[in-house]
Amino acid sequence: MTQIHSDDLFRRAQAHIPGGVNSPVRAFKGVGGEPVFFTRGEGAYLYDVDDNRYIDYVNSWGPLIVGHTHPEVVTAVQEAAAQGLGFGAPTATEIEMAETLCRLVPSMDLVRMVSSGTEATMSAIRLARGFTGRDKILKFEGCYHGHADSLLVKAGSGALTLGVPTSPGIPLSVAEHTLTVSYNNLAEVQEVFNHFGEQIAAIIVEPVAGNMNCVPPVPGFLEGLRTICDNHGSVLIFDEVMTGFRVALGGAQALYDVTPDLTTLGKVVGGGLPVGAFGGRQKIMEMIAPLGPVYQAGTLSGNPVAMAAGLATLKLIQAPGFYEHLSRQTQKLVNGILGRARDADIPMTANQVGGMFGLFFTGEEEVTCYEQATHCHLDRFKSFYHGMLEHGIYFAPSAFEAGFVSSAHNDEHIAATLQAAEQVLAKLSL
Ligand code: PMP
Repeated sequence: MTQIHSDDLFRRAQAHIPGGVNSPVRAFKGVGGEPVFFTRGEGAYLYDVDDNRYIDYVNSWGPLIVGHTHPEVVTAVQEAAAQGLGFGAPTATEIEMAETLCRLVPSMDLVRMVSSGTEATMSAIRLARGFTGRDKILKFEGCYHGHADSLLVKAGSGALTLGVPTSPGIPLSVAEHTLTVSYNNLAEVQEVFNHFGEQIAAIIVEPVAGNMNCVPPVPGFLEGLRTICDNHGSVLIFDEVMTGFRVALGGAQALYDVTPDLTTLGKVVGGGLPVGAFGGRQKIMEMIAPLGPVYQAGTLSGNPVAMAAGLATLKLIQAPGFYEHLSRQTQKLVNGILGRARDADIPMTANQVGGMFGLFFTGEEEVTCYEQATHCHLDRFKSFYHGMLEHGIYFAPSAFEAGFVSSAHNDEHIAATLQAAEQVLAKLSL
């Protein structure tokens, strides 16, 4: 496959866009080489500037759960756009969105729309702090919640040390309020609460982690977080920006039957346009302006075109059997790749929940936390990645990102992917 035009565009992009990209992972630093520039998508396929076709397992990092340019979503967007691109005033469409979300997501009594996942988590944290009158929050190593200051923090040298910024530009005085412990490790959470319980406003967690590749919660983990928050008067926030409408219709909270106090959403809820949301228990959400004193606002919040794309997508995913099908296709993909890795003597493991999955070149042991995920055989992953790309299969360009299947991925797409994997994995074992 030629990428002459992608090369040209990447050079042009770098002249005026930092690193040539508008979000770092797109730069292919995780896999080497240069990013592919796309022109269009259709169903399970992406087309690059040279008209090479790829089967897409990124799906815009999750939002495109019904595939690219689904006719019903495109029509809804066109119709909404023709009526006006935005008013910065209330519309009926945003009521329909709020009603839909509160009906589908078990924990939601009230919901506020925003324009990104980052805004959703940042606002949820402020709200939890305002509601409890406490400053500290607890998060988990390897979980990503967007790039707000208090969430770009990693653990100090032990669970009981205060957080340190993972980026210059974040004051220590902000980061020190963020405590970080290992994912799936309830004992560490309990230990931190034994020391700081009275000061912790919230636990924020990806109920299925999707930003250290895909790592599901071990049995009892989410339930344990619920109990600990209840015992200490802290707010439990499920960051379902990725898992919302991805692992099940009601998100991970429906799948695992654990109800958080607040939930953040993004990705699927915007059907591919820039949308986020946060919502939850009436009593907490009533603290938000203009009802209450916790300030939060947005010029583009509830934008009618974005609401139309989201609502059209949310309508399609409520079709009977949608998630059973999505999950089955994802399982076929994952089991198929694992089988071919075994045949090629490449030690691999995988995780899969609903329409999200993670392939790990870490060995054959199950991966349940960040530390294990980092044991990836990176060179092998990179060779696999580029081999698959050569065969027209587009995975996320990093070993630490989850993959996504859409309802447009049929048996033929999966079979073609497995055929490519068989050839690529066989070469890796040489
Ligand atoms: N939370 C989670 C769990 C995410 O996966 C992401 C983005 N991948 C975010 C928050 C941030 O969302 P956005 O990129 O829309 O700001």
